[in-house]
Amino acid sequence: MRARAGKVIDYTPLVDEALSRAEFKVPQVLLIDRQLAPERLQASYLVAYEPLREKFFDAHVPCEWLESNEPSYTLYTSGTTGKPKGVQRDVGGYAVALAASMEHIFQGAPGDTMFTASDIGWVVGHSYIIYAPLIAGLTTVMYEGTPIRPDGGIWWRLVEQYKINLMFTAPTAIRVLRKQDASLMEKYDLSSLRTLFLAGEPLDEPTAQWVQSALKKPVIDNYWQTETGWPMIAIPRGIEELPSKLGSPGVPSMGFNLTLRNEVTGDVCAAGEKGVVALDYPLPPGCMQTVWRDDQRFVDTYWQSVPDQLLYSTFDWGVQDEDGYVSILGRTDDVINVAGHRLGTREIEEALSSHPAVAEVAVVGIADAVKGQAAAAFVVLRDPDRINAPGASEGLQAELCHAVDSQLGAIARPARVCFVSMLPKTRSGKLLRRAIAALAEGRDPGELPTIEDPSALMQVREALGGQ
Ligand code: ATP
Ligand code: MG
Repeated sequence: MRARAGKVIDYTPLVDEALSRAEFKVPQVLLIDRQLAPERLQASYLVAYEPLREKFFDAHVPCEWLESNEPSYTLYTSGTTGKPKGVQRDVGGYAVALAASMEHIFQGAPGDTMFTASDIGWVVGHSYIIYAPLIAGLTTVMYEGTPIRPDGGIWWRLVEQYKINLMFTAPTAIRVLRKQDASLMEKYDLSSLRTLFLAGEPLDEPTAQWVQSALKKPVIDNYWQTETGWPMIAIPRGIEELPSKLGSPGVPSMGFNLTLRNEVTGDVCAAGEKGVVALDYPLPPGCMQTVWRDDQRFVDTYWQSVPDQLLYSTFDWGVQDEDGYVSILGRTDDVINVAGHRLGTREIEEALSSHPAVAEVAVVGIADAVKGQAAAAFVVLRDPDRINAPGASEGLQAELCHAVDSQLGAIARPARVCFVSMLPKTRSGKLLRRAIAALAEGRDPGELPTIEDPSALMQVREALGGQ
């Protein structure tokens, strides 16, 4: 049983089903009663928590020695683009990679305190709430809950209280905070905090600039996937200090032989030329070993984009500049073709979110009889009341289209701009563009295993006129 943003989510049916399917006989299920929904607790599971905690509080648990290639865990990708893939990881390589990343990317030293605001069910949580800080001798702060409960100052209160040195979260959380009062950050003593790291989705410039000026601390983007386990593009720390560049998570990390490739020929792109982010064989320590119980899916999914070459495809689209900095332009699925022009939905989102009225936006491509595809934008406003007056909605739509015209040209102008109060996301906060696009084209969005709040899809449907 768990509360997510105030709503009680009953996990016991999931536990029941897992137990009924498992071949292993589980001797005892420990359920912590948080008094959220006492009527739903099953007597057979309940074990008093406090006495157990007291009994084992000082227990010393010896290490279990394992061969370094033993699987340490399997973890599923977010399911943004389809059925989640079960990523299997080893023990030794992962531990080495995480320890190195703490030193050379996250600037963590023994004795520091790190607060990664994520969920331990996701890879950022596995790697940077649990394993990496503990392996590297840091204290880790585990906090369950959203950044705005009980109020938008909760994270900063934690920083003050626990003298947190390093923070790590996702841009989606910062966009949530951006809708809150910025003075909440000034109320707390943030002097212990050195850096805020962000990863998990594109960090748009308005969000980066807002949080940087509100916090007055460096905000550093880094790019990776569940599959890699740790950042494959980042700003390395150490002998040579590289500056950050707005709009880029940095340069390829040590051990990653990362290049941008032409998606058809597989040739390495020149500086400034857009291509697919790919990794050479072998993948560095910490990366996935295979897809859990499905080696064939591992080969078919990741290693077969370019014929006759052993290249791992990230399915992300990027561009590298003369200095080696890579910018991520979105997923290869998210490129749309408008009258023969290839546009990244992310570029259009970035143009729209530069308008001060916009809190969040999703752009998808929809089929268009004349142009092949056209962009449709779904916008969450910072102040939803702004469009209540007659004509206000049309006025703002025109302003938003103008923002796109002036930054990217009229070719990128969205064919539709719809206002919604919430966007459909996976539970890890990633936009479900594929579901939005399906609805916008009147198709069935299909199975959505990890959607955060299904009512967001209803809103998209309504915004489209109930199609
Ligand atoms: P699935 O693979 O199941 O469709 P997913 O790709 O969302 O889901 P994750 O492994 O959680 O699952 O997310 C990794 C993806 O997130 C990357 O491939 C990339 O598209 C995006 N991403 C992560 N970090 C960044 C970043 N710093 N900038 C831009 N995009 C990022
Ligand atoms: Mg993925």
